[in-house]
Amino acid sequence: MTPKLIDIHSHINFNAFKDDGKDVIRRTLDAGIWTILVGSQMDTSERAVWYAEQYKEGIYAAVGLHPIHLVEAHFDVNEVEAKDKTSGFPRKPDVQNLAFTSRPEVFDYNRYKKIAEHQKTVAIGECGLDYFRITQLVTHTAQHEIIEKQKETFRQQVALAREVKKPLMIHCRNAYEDLIQILKEEKAYDIGGDIHFFVSSKEVAKQFLGLGFTMSFTGVLTFTHDYDEVVEYIPLENILVETDAPYVSPVPFRGKRNEPLYVEYIARRIAEIKKLPEDQVFQQLVLNTKRVFKF
Ligand SMILES: [Zn+2]
Repeated sequence: MTPKLIDIHSHINFNAFKDDGKDVIRRTLDAGIWTILVGSQMDTSERAVWYAEQYKEGIYAAVGLHPIHLVEAHFDVNEVEAKDKTSGFPRKPDVQNLAFTSRPEVFDYNRYKKIAEHQKTVAIGECGLDYFRITQLVTHTAQHEIIEKQKETFRQQVALAREVKKPLMIHCRNAYEDLIQILKEEKAYDIGGDIHFFVSSKEVAKQFLGLGFTMSFTGVLTFTHDYDEVVEYIPLENILVETDAPYVSPVPFRGKRNEPLYVEYIARRIAEIKKLPEDQVFQQLVLNTKRVFKF
């Protein structure tokens, strides 16, 4: 079956969906929408694979260790977004409470390799670099240590992606320059993958295109025009769509829990910005996803 759209990055495997994950997946599949459930630590990665196993098609997993889970810290997602003055993030606070305390984890290559090899696992991630959150949390010296740890852990996951021959699902916040440098040093162009939640400039986009990476966009496109220009610039063949549910609900669902069904609102914005018919854009987005994640 060919889906109408594929939400390439959602977290139905997170606690926000612990009571109704299967219902959410059911209405997603019934609407002809597929999704990749993305892990951020070992337990959420295992849960992504577990969910994917329950469905013949349409639900896939990405397994990896997110850079914010290398140290223990308390994150109030809404507060962090409200304070973010540099990235054009929403100032409007969400009413839902998405606060969490990150549990520190050391990347266990062999344990991740086991779930990475699973046939329903289509990517390694989310992995990458996140300098935004650490600058709000710790002293300068500690920051340096954390950054080194993030880089090392990311390189290990690039190596894993290479070994299991699966693409990368990359998280990057306020660290694009360092990320590009690592991708070049690791020769990641022959691994490929996606830069999830892309929020940067044409210049940065150009470098990812040169490395053969796609960039995916979220509900952010529905409440700010800050990224219209970069969406216009990136060829449609190199764009993917995602919800990042439960976070960043698109208009008209701001303040509510996000879910993969809403990916349609983001795809429509891409069609609008590209001034192309919706059907054509939806079909191309699906083709792009199948090409990048090989399913
Ligand atoms: Zn995510």
